Amino acid sequence: RDDKPLQDVEPAMAKPAAKLTSPDRVVFPDDSISKGEVAAYYQGVARWLLPELIKRPLSLVRCPAGIAVTCFFQKHHNASFGPKVFAIELRESDGRGEYLYVKDIDGVLALVQMNTLEFHPWGARVDAPDKPDRLVFDLDPAEGIAWTDIKAAAREVHDRLVQVKLRSWVRLSGGKGLHVVVPIRRGPDWAQAKAFCEAFAETMVAQAPLHYVATASKVARKGRIFIDWLRNTRGATSVCSWSLRARPGATVAMPLSWDELGRTRSAATYDLKKALRRARTLTDDPWQGFSQVRQALPKF
Ligand code: ATP
Ligand code: MN
Ligand code: MN
Repeated sequence: RDDKPLQDVEPAMAKPAAKLTSPDRVVFPDDSISKGEVAAYYQGVARWLLPELIKRPLSLVRCPAGIAVTCFFQKHHNASFGPKVFAIELRESDGRGEYLYVKDIDGVLALVQMNTLEFHPWGARVDAPDKPDRLVFDLDPAEGIAWTDIKAAAREVHDRLVQVKLRSWVRLSGGKGLHVVVPIRRGPDWAQAKAFCEAFAETMVAQAPLHYVATASKVARKGRIFIDWLRNTRGATSVCSWSLRARPGATVAMPLSWDELGRTRSAATYDLKKALRRARTLTDDPWQGFSQVRQALPKF
């Protein structure tokens, strides 16, 4: 079925892709990026993206008329997603809801066909949604905080985690801040994970109250970095590594090694084109060890 010469075909494109309608429709108007280019992006980064999101409940940011019009957050399954997008019934605040997940690139592309730009997985997998396997400290800087201070905050989170024998990995959000991600061995429930993260954040704040804050209140956050530990509750999500952001510039949430972090200038360092280039040329996983590490959530 492939009549193109093989060397012109990306590895991920060797598989038949979901049918994509309106590939020329412009999605990022300032950057002249089309729906077809978004699909090609996700195919091009599949090798790095898929391990981060398959078999996890997903929330989506969908922008049917492009990012300049209306985008919406969606967490529920819809039959229109087709056979490559799976439903999972989960308990939620009022009863039960059908959540969604994918198993492969075809599932991702089926969601792109439905105008998904951002992918936000849970920190738990569909076989045990009540047992988190990764925690996220989402560092949200107030207006005017210097990038060097945001990087220093992430390193401080890293160093404090080392003190409780936890390894962590860092990601540019593609927006303003950084995410420090901590894989944990499954066992504790969400309440226990959340309690750990809250206590961890509160300790950092207690020791540097002029720099950090652990409450979401806008006033308290002024001039400080909000250590957003609230991502670690049942049903909460964080943007997936390698996901595009539905923001001007078509930025990407990018996983980095701690060494690479030092060389960045902002959380929006990577856009679609740079990320695609990085995916093609990367040899070593910037998150080396992340998926192999087995570490228990400590008492805190
Ligand atoms: P930034 O660096 O600009 O803060 P971010 O992705 O960390 O980018 P946040 O606003 O801090 O953005 O949100 C953290 C996470 O919370 C998001 O990645 C997303 O998964 C989730 N989130 C944000 N807004 C919503 C929403 N309206 N509904 C559900 N989840 C959301
Ligand atoms: Mn954030
Ligand atoms: Mn946040």
